[in-house]
Amino acid sequence: MLSQQDINDRILVQEHFAKEHLPGEMTQEQVEQYKARIKQLLKEKDACLVAHYYTDAIVQEIAEETGGCISDSLEMARFGTTRPEQTLVVAGVRFMGETAKILSPEKRILMPTLEATCSLDIGCPIEEFSAFCDAHPDHEVVVYANTSAAVKARADWVVTSSIALKVAEHLEEQGKKIIWAPDKHLGGYVQKQTGIEMLMWDGACIVHEEFKAKGILDLKKVYPDAAVLVHPESPDSVVEIADAVGSTTQLIQAASDLPNEQLIVATDRGIFYKMQQAAPGKQFIEAPTGGSGATCRSCAHCPWMAMNGLDNIISALETGEGEVLVDEALIEDARRPLQRMLDFSASLAKA
Ligand code: SF4
Repeated sequence: MLSQQDINDRILVQEHFAKEHLPGEMTQEQVEQYKARIKQLLKEKDACLVAHYYTDAIVQEIAEETGGCISDSLEMARFGTTRPEQTLVVAGVRFMGETAKILSPEKRILMPTLEATCSLDIGCPIEEFSAFCDAHPDHEVVVYANTSAAVKARADWVVTSSIALKVAEHLEEQGKKIIWAPDKHLGGYVQKQTGIEMLMWDGACIVHEEFKAKGILDLKKVYPDAAVLVHPESPDSVVEIADAVGSTTQLIQAASDLPNEQLIVATDRGIFYKMQQAAPGKQFIEAPTGGSGATCRSCAHCPWMAMNGLDNIISALETGEGEVLVDEALIEDARRPLQRMLDFSASLAKA
């Protein structure tokens, strides 16, 4: 049974696809015009474009050509803190804009659309989550980066998929009990890898949850020499058949490191832009979703990430609309668990 919120979010996505044109439908001349305008505006507005791996290739290309950044959510926020520009344009989903604001509160954070959200964020409302935490006061609260600023502010730790295992092990060594939210698949992966029991929130990513082990195994019959790369937001049955499991950055590295010439990739296909750079000449194949009854072979593209278009990047820069605002008190509280993760990550790098 869908909630009213689910229905509203679905309508929003459908309306978006009905009215927006995708870069792939533009002529090369139009694309060049958009690119030139965005480059000009970034200079004029003292702004820097920071894009997630899952955004459209053309958005990533512009970020790269203008000295911006293409990365995962944490690195996007960290990169923003190092830049001299006073405006960051965050092409991604809302929690990424909020994280950038939390780590760079003095800067103006613009997003091409504030309506781009994430099923993990939607599925973890602060009131319910806070009550869940209150019911287990003896637990350390660990939340994934894919959460609202309010949920981060309620947490002891923020983690990304690249550091999730290490943080869980660190807390286990200290004898702490753990609440894990919101992604049950990532949490299940951490539990299985480390043997640590955790109290789990019941959230999932609508993109990664759709990958099917049977479909991937069928595809392996067609490409028997292909390696399977899987993001741990995917179900356990998919993780089990992977040759490499990891965060977006770790999967890009695996694409380069593995000897296989063909790679079946179970994450958003936006990542192919960077994978092709890291492993030129290799063939990247989208992992199937949905099963045999589906109308498409793979729908491995986040509908909210797809909302970041060239036209709304221009609009945000021209009008200043789409500014991310986070309550000052919330910034203070949400920064604490984020900074804890950054410090922990830095200590691991030094060790
Ligand atoms: S791909 Fe999944 S986790 Fe990432 S933003 Fe989209 S819904 Fe959220």
